[in-house]
Amino acid sequence: MVAGITPFNFPCMVPCWMFPVAIACGNAFILKPSERDPSPSLFMAELLQQAGLPDGIFNVVQGDKVAVDTLLHHDDVKALSFVGSTPIAQYIYETGAHHGKRVQALGGAKNHMVVMPDADLDQAVDALIGSAYGSAGERCMAISVAVLVGDVADRIVPKLAERAKTLKVKNGMELDAEMGPIVTQQAKERIEGYIDIGVKEGAKLVVDGRGFKVPGFEAGFFTGGTLFDHVTPSMRIYKEEIFGPVLACVRAKDFTEALALVNDHEYGNGVACFTSDGNVAREFARHVQVGMVGINVPIPVPMAWHGFGGCKKSLFGDMHAYGEEGVRFYTKQKSVMQRWASSIGKGAEFVMPTSK
Ligand code: NAD
Repeated sequence: MVAGITPFNFPCMVPCWMFPVAIACGNAFILKPSERDPSPSLFMAELLQQAGLPDGIFNVVQGDKVAVDTLLHHDDVKALSFVGSTPIAQYIYETGAHHGKRVQALGGAKNHMVVMPDADLDQAVDALIGSAYGSAGERCMAISVAVLVGDVADRIVPKLAERAKTLKVKNGMELDAEMGPIVTQQAKERIEGYIDIGVKEGAKLVVDGRGFKVPGFEAGFFTGGTLFDHVTPSMRIYKEEIFGPVLACVRAKDFTEALALVNDHEYGNGVACFTSDGNVAREFARHVQVGMVGINVPIPVPMAWHGFGGCKKSLFGDMHAYGEEGVRFYTKQKSVMQRWASSIGKGAEFVMPTSK
């Protein structure tokens, strides 16, 4: 029996990183989805039942910390997969390990996109706008920091500002919405609180999304796309995960400084480098200390078999989700040594057994 504890932001996809592999490897699975969007888990359970999965193989337990702690302490749960914020990931990893469980705990992120002076600027603008503001920035693979190298900043920031100001922020049920609302009022307050902090810290607020109103949905939890320039590594808006539509631009003098910024950050989920120089791309991929690396790809989510996972404070445990590492995570190695009648009869052996 294994369990999965999942976040609000991908209520179907994240469980799908876990239960298909776990079940294919021979385990029964308990899903504890986010209490903020409990119904997709039940919908998936119904589909699995319709498909003929025997009862008891895919189970859903709703709840919050109480349900999580019960799984963490239960002897029948042999392994736990977690996806969510870093403080909870660390708690799950430490508590699960303390109770003798195998744990993979994927945490938060602060994904950087390095834009080199030789990058295609229009392509970089599209990439930054889509990856910073898509899903209102509530994605663990969202880009929240643009590292602008050399003279890129002065050329790209006006273009980013123009686009951030005209984002289509709407009711998320409208198909042409580029950004919907934030998940809760509390999350909106946290995000707008970070914008206040950025202003106090001295970053230049180029586009301010605070207090954004959508006509007809005045009580909705909307925040507009927000853009900061001249952000520095000592600022909280640089160091901490905001998990909202806020893009922080940091200026770096050269490639070495840009790479050091990424490597010195405590998170290491995803990263991107935009360049037209193959040598820069190769050096970046080789030296960057981040789990998933995109070259001219802003959101480098690996396909199927390759697994998903970061490093540093973005992943506690040794193995990535799904793919080959998922199979290793949900199985245990067993070694079987055999001897048959024809090879017995040599009498007692007092030496170390060998294959001869
Ligand atoms: P969260 O950490 O608040 O909640 C995740 C899960 O943990 C939920 O099921 C919740 O019920 C449970 N939980 C919350 N508080 C707990 C506590 N004190 N003790 C025990 N369990 C607790 O995360 P969230 O707000 O639902 O999701 C957003 C976070 O998830 C962001 O930090 C984001 O970066 C991260 N995330 C990471 C990835 C990844 O692959 N690394 C993917 C998606 C989201």
